[in-house]
Amino acid sequence: RAKSHGKGLIEVYTRQLADQVLARAALERDIHAAVAGRHFEVHYQPIVRVDQPVIAGAEALLRWRREGELISPGVFIPMCEEMNFIQDITVLLLDAVARDVAAWRAEGQTPHVSVNISAVQFSDPSFHERLAHILAARSMPREQLGLEITETAIMSKPELAANTLRHLREQGHTVSIDDFGTGYSSLRNLQRFPLTTLKIDRQFISGLGSRETRAIVKASIAMAKGLGLSVVAEGVERPEELDFLRDCRCDFYQGFLFSPAVTAQDFLALLLRQQSGTLVQEETFLLPP
Ligand code: C2E
Ligand code: MG
Ligand code: MG
Ligand code: MG
Repeated sequence: RAKSHGKGLIEVYTRQLADQVLARAALERDIHAAVAGRHFEVHYQPIVRVDQPVIAGAEALLRWRREGELISPGVFIPMCEEMNFIQDITVLLLDAVARDVAAWRAEGQTPHVSVNISAVQFSDPSFHERLAHILAARSMPREQLGLEITETAIMSKPELAANTLRHLREQGHTVSIDDFGTGYSSLRNLQRFPLTTLKIDRQFISGLGSRETRAIVKASIAMAKGLGLSVVAEGVERPEELDFLRDCRCDFYQGFLFSPAVTAQDFLALLLRQQSGTLVQEETFLLPP
């Protein structure tokens, strides 16, 4: 009896594994089709000044709607990296950003936009040249585009990274270190690499209830500013988090407290309402995450 019970478990387990493999195969097939059919959207999350509710720019975030269901970039970006699609998908992203930036410009709005760059792309020695080429072909001003790179991407090939970062700076881009504090960060990296911005990871912001985390965040902001970097806090959801960041003289924040990532049209609407002075901060709290 025990034996047949064990066998049944193995069957269940095997079936689950098979289901997982099939689901993954289907997802891979759909990513293929989505890349080919350009079925991705770009949404923009406002990046806002801490000292006053003024939108300074946005982070471009990829969105994939698969049969009505939104798949998180946390799932499909790693798959695109494995499947060697990351280059293609970044070109799609930059196409969309360049188109949106042109549309906003026609309305007199020129926000700074930052995009996320994968470690794989960052280890390509001609990355900055490819980027310059893509932007020139789409008449996108370089100064308006920022790049977000993780510490892990920089540290996998530090020499190469230093070179690429220097080129990107010379090309007029801002360069942020993304998810700061989650990798094997060394404070020395901040000094060693030509960065412009430090983005404090969301996990530190959601942890601000703890005294130790408050100490870490406060010290990180002070240190970054001492090194001449600007600081963005990620994932700000509560008014008291924003109050703390204001006390620490953090420069910018993004998070559901102000707004989640929204469509290009909705982002333009926010910019236009801000310009006409009709954007009240309480109102943005009502936006759904
Ligand atoms: P990230 O660069 O750290 O982006 C911030 C993530 O935090 C976004 O998730 C954003 O929607 C989410 N977020 C922002 N504010 C809040 C908040 O107040 N609370 C909470 N709980 N979450 C908040 P998203 O869009 O799911 O992106 C996840 C990650 O996927 C990004 O993390 C980035 O690493 C990657 N990613 C997104 N788009 C691209 C892309 O175009 N290229 C590459 N290489 N990676 C991308
Ligand atoms: Mg980012
Ligand atoms: Mg981040
Ligand atoms: Mg993050």
